[in-house]
Parts: sequence; C-alpha cells; structure tokens
Amino acid sequence: MTIIRGATTIENDCKEEISASVKELLDEIFSVNALKKEDVSGFLFSLTTDIHSYHPAKSARECGYDFAPLFACTEPEIDGGLKLCIRLMLFTELMENRSVKHIYQKGAKILRKDISEVYNIALDGPAGSGKSTVAKALAKDYDILYLDTGAMYRACGLKALRLGIDVKDETAVKEMLQTINLKVEYQGGKQHTILDGEDVSTAIRENAVSMVASTISAHPVVREKMVEMQREIAKGTSCVLDGRDIGSVVLPNAKYKFFITADSKVRAMRRYKELLSRGETVDFDKLHAEIIARDKQDSERAFSPLIQAKDAVLIDTSDMDIESVLKAIKAVIQSKI
Ligand code: C5P
Repeated sequence: MTIIRGATTIENDCKEEISASVKELLDEIFSVNALKKEDVSGFLFSLTTDIHSYHPAKSARECGYDFAPLFACTEPEIDGGLKLCIRLMLFTELMENRSVKHIYQKGAKILRKDISEVYNIALDGPAGSGKSTVAKALAKDYDILYLDTGAMYRACGLKALRLGIDVKDETAVKEMLQTINLKVEYQGGKQHTILDGEDVSTAIRENAVSMVASTISAHPVVREKMVEMQREIAKGTSCVLDGRDIGSVVLPNAKYKFFITADSKVRAMRRYKELLSRGETVDFDKLHAEIIARDKQDSERAFSPLIQAKDAVLIDTSDMDIESVLKAIKAVIQSKI
C-alpha cells in the first residue's frame, strides 16, 4: 500500500469552493501521478474545524471520483495550523516501486519531515530568553530533531572546571580539547550530553558552569570544533537548533531564523526559578548581575558573537508566556511555507 497525500485551502466555507477545490486537488494528484481508477483503494479526507458547509467526500463523488470508498472526518484544532484546510490521504495498491508526488495547493503544506523538504529552524538569543523551551516545543510539534548547542559549550566548561584549567588560557584549553570525548546522543527523543563516557546532562546545568561555558566558548578553537559537530548532527535532517550563533554562523542558510530576547530582569527571574526548582539556592541579584556579565561577554567576543542575524525575526518575550511565543513563531513559519 502506498499513500499519496494532498492538501488545499479554501477562502470561504461554502459548498461551491469546497467542491471546486476538492476537484482541483484530485485532478492534479491523478494527473501528476498518472493514476488510474483501478490503482486506488480509498480516499480519506480530513477537515479543519472551521469547515461546515459541505462534505468533501460528496464533492469528490459528484465530480467522478466514485470508484473507491470515500471517507471524511474533522481533525483536531492545532495551534499555528492552517485555517479552512482540506487534507487528503489517497490509498493506492499498485505503486510500490514508483515514487509518488504529494500535492499541496493554495498555500497548504504541512511540516512533516517524512514528506516535506528538510528545513532548519535557528533560534538565537541570550540566556533565559526562553529559546530552549520554545525549541523543545517546536521539535515536538513538528516531529523534528532538537539540538541544544549551549549544552556542548557547557560540557567543555565542565571539563575545564573539573581539571582546574584556567578557561582564559587558550593554550591550556587547546590541549584539553585534544583529549575531550564529547558526544550528543538521543534517548527517546531527548538530548543527552556525554562527556568522556559520562552522561553530564544534569551536571552541566549547574549555575557554576554557566559563566565558565561562556568564557571557554569565546576561543575560536573551541567554537570551530563545536560548530563542526553541530553541522554534522544537523546534516540532512530537519531540526531546530538553539544557541548564540546558529542563524549567523552554524546554519546561515536556515529557512527560519528567530532572535529571542527579553528584559534581563525577566530572564534572571526565569533562571532563578529554574535553579530553585532544581534545588540550587542562588541570590537573585547575583544571578541578575551574572546574566548581564554573560550577555556582555557573549555579545562582545571577537569570534562568532551573540548576534541577531539580519534575516532573523526578533521576538521579545518579556511579556509573553510560552504559548504566545510558540504561536508567534508558528505564524511566521506558516507564512513562509
Ligand atoms: O544557552 P546556554 O546558557 O546553555 O549556553 C551556555 C553558554 O554557551 C553561553 O553563555 C554562550 O557563551 C555559549 N554558547 C555559545 N554559542 C552557542 C550556544 C552557547 O557561545 N551556540
């Protein structure tokens, strides 16, 4: 069994438009795939909840596609999903060895890695802007890979801390890098950072690691090694990466780029709550000062500083909750599809 997918949209929820769009979609699917009646074993339509006025299965039957079972259902409402959209799965039997063409008309398309192009989402911004929460949610919703690049710099910082290396000393850092065994693994879709064989995913989150990671990440020798690994992980797969230089350096051709920021006090408060929830006690004012110092260091370093790529969309999350940020990002993505 092979499935051909298709989707289209209508401007108004009325019988004439539904019938015309369904016909147009089916005609194109049949024509570009050189399909014959006997190849088809069924049609399954799904509709967004804003379509009520006519049945697409009836429309299909009325325009001659009455030779196989037709079924239509309503799909759940998804944030950022298209409005007034009709989707189709067409089941065929005779095409095991043929590649098929899925048809998307009138701006309809879905972000599914198995059927659409490979694409990258770059999320850059300072600490506490909310980018990692957003990145995780996007990866889950679009069923694509998520890479937290900060975790890799944190692992380098952690190794230096443990060895008592001065992270400002480029020669010592360079020497350390020659023996580092850093891996990113995925278990159940969740990223694990493995340093010299040890899973350090929790240890790298400690506040003491943050500033060290920032300092060590300023060395070109560190960045070159990390960027190479990041590109290798991202190669050939749809993914969302968060960091400081994703849109500007790591994946300059990413299709979707965002720069997520927020007021430093708001970011410090988010980080404060996160650390408290993990049982770390920190002083808020000290944390705020650290965040400002880290922003300055990340933005002012000579090599690959924290920067908004010129084609990135700026989102200030100071007064936004995670749902609103996600909604805004998905709306931009949807408008560029
Ligand atoms: O994002 P996170 O706070 O985990 O990153 C820790 C540090 O790693 C940042 O302060 C930054 O200096 C560095 N980093 C970077 N480039 C990235 C990701 C993180 O320089 N792409």
